[in-house]
Amino acid sequence: MPTSKFAGKAQTVLGWIDGADLGVTLPHEHLLCDAKFNFSEPVDPEEKALAYKPVSMEILSWLRYHPSENLDNCQSFDEQEAIHEAMLFKKAGGSTIVDASCIGLGRNPQAMVRISRATGLNVIMGSGYMVHRCQPPDMSDRTEDEITEEIVRDINIGVGDTGIRAGLIGEIGASWPLHDNERKSIRAAAHAQRITGAPLDIHPGRINNKSVLEIIEILKDAGADLSRTVMSHTELRIRDHNVRCQVAKAGCYVEYDCFGWEGHVPLSLYGQTDLNLPNDVQRIHEIMQLIEAGHLERILISQDIWPKSWRTLYGGWGFAHISKYVTPAMLREGMSQEQINTIMIENPKRLLCFV
Ligand SMILES: [Zn+2]
Repeated sequence: MPTSKFAGKAQTVLGWIDGADLGVTLPHEHLLCDAKFNFSEPVDPEEKALAYKPVSMEILSWLRYHPSENLDNCQSFDEQEAIHEAMLFKKAGGSTIVDASCIGLGRNPQAMVRISRATGLNVIMGSGYMVHRCQPPDMSDRTEDEITEEIVRDINIGVGDTGIRAGLIGEIGASWPLHDNERKSIRAAAHAQRITGAPLDIHPGRINNKSVLEIIEILKDAGADLSRTVMSHTELRIRDHNVRCQVAKAGCYVEYDCFGWEGHVPLSLYGQTDLNLPNDVQRIHEIMQLIEAGHLERILISQDIWPKSWRTLYGGWGFAHISKYVTPAMLREGMSQEQINTIMIENPKRLLCFV
């Protein structure tokens, strides 16, 4: 892989910055998000009426069990609200947010610039394609090379004519079983990574561990830099310590990015994922097991705040949850401050700096 002149720097929506300036980083969030693709109408006729109500106290309890079955909950477009939420992270000592809203998740480069300016936070924007359900209708006609070129352009020149450049490839979506267009999109992402030296983030499909392992083989075959590749949503996708170690040994980052989400597994996930969604303390224990196995430098943590109901203005835990409540719990459970700094500062820096 050729070394770029920006090696050692990360690309934010306001331009290149030194890795040392990234500070405490959330590597997988959604400041704004359009996850309409994730919305499905409830089957129960009584619940159907709730699907199109605005998020409010009235439906908050129901939303805990059905986050994807309310359209308003799947969409966050309000920049002022996003600024308010992001400031909570900043006040808790945070510096950088990676917004993984790529194409298909309502990516909005100009809004990312405005949010970064208003908060003083570094914001890193994604590129490439989410799962096939939210890919463009002509995706089957596009070639791997065309998709590669588009991602490279987003990173090197900017999205459309905005001049605002992506600093991450992802989150690149996969379903289970893998759709042909997702395989194409993953391969294109790997090629774009080789060309640009950018970090890569994968959203694996559900069902145990098969999707993650299949994707690693596809990435290897397409020449991806696995040492700068993230496997997201570990608490939903990789429910076996040995497989988590296998992913780390392959060189990938193992990312626990649903911190704050405890219990209330949506009915819609039954049959699609193992049902043992861990709570935060269990996440910490799994992370400590990974550290014991020698994988401290392959661990990332975040909150993947995509629905409205996970934001504080709507009764959720928000972007400051890890800084305010998880890191004290980590210390209490026996992790050291040095280990926490590695996970929240050094690992994201190593991931996000171009090579
Ligand atoms: Zn995801």
